Amino acid sequence: MTNNNASKKTSLRTHTCGELNASNAGQTVTLTGWMDAKRNHGGVVFINLRDLYGVTQVVARPDSPVFKTAEEAKNEYVLRVTGKVTARPGSNANKNMTTGEIEVDASTIEILNISQPLPFDLGEHAGVSEETRLKYRFLDLRRERMAKNLVLRSRLSQVIRNYLYDLDFNEIETPLLTRSTPEGARDFVVPSRNNPGEFYALPQSPQQFKQVLMMSGMDRYFQLARNFRDEELRSDRQPEHTQIDLEMSFVDEQDIAKVVEGMMSAIFAHIGEEVKGPFPEMEFSDVMLKYGSDKPDLRYALEIKECSDIFKASAFKVFSGALAEGGVVRAIKGEGAAAFSRGDMDKLTELVKKFGAKGLVWLRFKDGKWESPTLKFINEAEQAALKERLDVKDGDAVFIAADKAAVAAPCLGALRNELIARLKPAKLKKWAFLWVRHFPLLEKDAETGNWTFTHNPFTAPLPEEAHKLDTDPGNVRSCQYDLVLNGVELGSGSVRNHTRAMQEKIFALMGYDKEQVQKRFAMIVNAMDFGAPPHGGIGMGYDRLIGIICGTESIRDVIAFPKTTSGACLMSDAPSVIDDRQLKELHIEIKK
Ligand code: ASP
Repeated sequence: MTNNNASKKTSLRTHTCGELNASNAGQTVTLTGWMDAKRNHGGVVFINLRDLYGVTQVVARPDSPVFKTAEEAKNEYVLRVTGKVTARPGSNANKNMTTGEIEVDASTIEILNISQPLPFDLGEHAGVSEETRLKYRFLDLRRERMAKNLVLRSRLSQVIRNYLYDLDFNEIETPLLTRSTPEGARDFVVPSRNNPGEFYALPQSPQQFKQVLMMSGMDRYFQLARNFRDEELRSDRQPEHTQIDLEMSFVDEQDIAKVVEGMMSAIFAHIGEEVKGPFPEMEFSDVMLKYGSDKPDLRYALEIKECSDIFKASAFKVFSGALAEGGVVRAIKGEGAAAFSRGDMDKLTELVKKFGAKGLVWLRFKDGKWESPTLKFINEAEQAALKERLDVKDGDAVFIAADKAAVAAPCLGALRNELIARLKPAKLKKWAFLWVRHFPLLEKDAETGNWTFTHNPFTAPLPEEAHKLDTDPGNVRSCQYDLVLNGVELGSGSVRNHTRAMQEKIFALMGYDKEQVQKRFAMIVNAMDFGAPPHGGIGMGYDRLIGIICGTESIRDVIAFPKTTSGACLMSDAPSVIDDRQLKELHIEIKK
């Protein structure tokens, strides 16, 4: 927030509740705001008057004409107070309040509006259910923490805009009423009254429009864009979310990374944190090997180690069996995890089973000795090699997964997260950014058996691997990258296909013939026919970013009017039924 207090003077107030200090002593001021709290001290009434900018103490003395009104006022009454600013003598000053040096001795108190008794206490620590908070969101947003989140969110969008405008990006709005496209999630659709039986789809992202803008010669586009995805909701998902959406022409992956890194520096500088590019980057395949996740939290050092070589002649069926089937044996160390109980070990085993593992081998190293129910299957040479590979010290435990790489990686990745949560290892840094690069272009769709895109159907293959599209499409890496911050996938983007031939080739692998491509993606492929420039971009989750910066558990705490996990807005009561006349106009009949 700026300190431009003069700009906040209005016809109803001279100052805000957050700006008066000892230098204002003696002035007569008028403040407006809500009654936050009231105390009666030996017959004198003290009111804490609150607005967005702070809290000021107002005093009503028993001999004053305002006393009666002060007594009448209740929490969240809207008041307008005129009075003289008086310095609070040293011992009375409240160091916890920015306006603690003064109080306002009221000469008039006007009640601008009354309030019903509150459904919950606005004090930060009151244990209020989220349902109640969402139903009375207007009250919830009066809380300091929530108001601060929204103000910071607003300020950071200004920082982003300034940064991008300085780089000559143009902010261009793309349609919200558009057509259904394959982006991986379900669409929200809107019936078209003028076209019976036809529907618009709300955009899952502005992807195709931003690409077409590049084909229109716009060179650099951005938008704080609203995206709609009809997915199962979790705490970090909302049916509509905001994305910092960029697209640039005549660029490679590094050009886009530089713009994003500079933007993150600007955003973090605003909150007094230093973040500098270039951010570390890793190949997707390496990140899966080392961290078992494509969004590892690199604030922590824990690493998965390949141990297949150690166990290549293992007598332990679990290991030899996995290796014989082309699988891997990989391990992760938990520093201090030897203190885990058998019950803890069982819980960790259950965890990896959820990720497809058949079981989990664990060994504790205590008082210079290994200890494990499966120790007898691991010979001394293997034990020694394991100890060295993972740098095992007294008090540590080692967890081993033996399976196909595609199973072992996510199991150990989940275990890594759990070990971090339980062991709380030292943080290497506060903000750990990571670029994960070169995801596979295609993967097999489990349902249809066809090739499908891993991230985005418009992503280009790595030029030097494009030739494998004909012979080995599953092994073609792409120009797709993710940006990860503290274990959260913050954004995703790519360098795109810009020739129709390449785009059609990739769609063909996904089972779309030319005719289908023309039908479903007419807009983008037609534009590719007329001199589409090389281009690429990224979309970054704005709610998530603000959530991380504000340290909230749920992104709902950084969205003014979020929805519940069942997609409802408890305040406006959306979604709702519509009346028969509206349905008829839309040519829709509801199945009873
Ligand atoms: N359309 C992508 C997404 O929404 C972002 C991008 O590739 O630019 O994740």
